Amino acid sequence: MADLPLGVHDHDSAEGLIPVDVARARVLDAIQVLSPLQLPLTESHGCVSAEDVVAAENLPSFASSAMDGFAVRSSDVAEATPERPAELKIVGRALIGHRPEVTVGGGEAVAIATGAPVPSGADTIVPVENASVLGEFVSLVEAARPGRHVRPVGEDVTEGTVLVERGKRLGGPELGLLANAGHAAPLVHPRPRVVVLSTGDELIPPTESPDFGQIRDSNAYSIFGGLREAGAMPVLAGIVRDDADSLKQTVLDYLIQADAFISSGGVSVGERDVVKAAFFRRGDIDFYKVAMQPGMPQGFGHIEGKPYFGLPGNPVSVFVSFELFVRPAMLTMMGRTHVDRPHVSATLASEVSGPKGKMQYARVVVERTAEGWVATPTGGRGSNLISTVARANGLAMIPPGTETAPTGSPVDVMVFRPGED
Ligand code: AMP
Ligand code: MG
Repeated sequence: MADLPLGVHDHDSAEGLIPVDVARARVLDAIQVLSPLQLPLTESHGCVSAEDVVAAENLPSFASSAMDGFAVRSSDVAEATPERPAELKIVGRALIGHRPEVTVGGGEAVAIATGAPVPSGADTIVPVENASVLGEFVSLVEAARPGRHVRPVGEDVTEGTVLVERGKRLGGPELGLLANAGHAAPLVHPRPRVVVLSTGDELIPPTESPDFGQIRDSNAYSIFGGLREAGAMPVLAGIVRDDADSLKQTVLDYLIQADAFISSGGVSVGERDVVKAAFFRRGDIDFYKVAMQPGMPQGFGHIEGKPYFGLPGNPVSVFVSFELFVRPAMLTMMGRTHVDRPHVSATLASEVSGPKGKMQYARVVVERTAEGWVATPTGGRGSNLISTVARANGLAMIPPGTETAPTGSPVDVMVFRPGED
């Protein structure tokens, strides 16, 4: 507000404001998926595969027994019953992890453990429950068809088939499959490393006690959590004073280890604001106002090709801007295609009012009741009230044109803690 006379404010005017959807599309259109990297399996967890991963071999690669028992020829036991058991000679033992040294001939059996390779000559397994050993002989009391209790080669995966499709996110089962198939370093879109800066002469770290007028930096931590939850890797660069040169220098110092930057504060109305002062002349970052409450002033652009998000300073504005612009951008960088939070249609438990020309984001607890979803606001409208976010699980969206959404009115709610208690 530095450029406006005292007492004049432009918060309720819709002039020069960009609709939220337009602002969001501008950001997302300018975001590129990070170039793929081969990462060790454990590091690739949660990342999106950048290619169709093709099986180079059959899985399993050898036929093995699914039971403890005897490997035999099915023709030898075709007529076996408890009354007329088949009597076969035990000629050896098939061990797990070893190539069997014996071959099963007519009238012969090899003792076999679950998972051991089936010796050549045998085509079926008679489980130990249907066998009784008498010295060198085993008597088998049940007929077995060919292939019974044998895990055949390629039963799980045949060579040349796609194990994991391009675009698939790697969870535990995918990691297990890739490990089994010998793909120890899959090609994935990596997690962005995101440098987080807090601007403001008034800020101190949470470990310190404020002098009068100072406040503890909370934005760095809510952004940190949001990044982690999105799967990105935050790097906290700390507090930067309201001095354009310091901000520029800090950004340059971190350039080499950053895939993106997020700063909070210093993007308001006055050109004295530090982020504007540091970057607006270079034309790298656009500063604009979005028709939303909270979170109206925004900066976005690129520094040396790396996306830079200049978020406003107020903690609730930071949270809402993160949810609307930063989170989907992070997911896009990671190659994710579904970047939206789930939405529910709810009924407002109490009225919400705000500026008419903007999309209002009211922090609510949204709960399912017998009558459907109900959204209860968690507190005041002030964009400094971070506790209203901490208590909420959703953002109720009151579209432009509505000044007051009355109790009982329908509302669209974006759920930011889906599936949590
Ligand atoms: P600014 O846009 O820099 O004027 O910041 C707007 C408001 O947000 C001011 O009241 C700041 O003190 C507050 N603010 C800015 N940065 C932070 C931060 N990192 N943590 C908490 N509050 C902040
Ligand atoms: Mg500031």
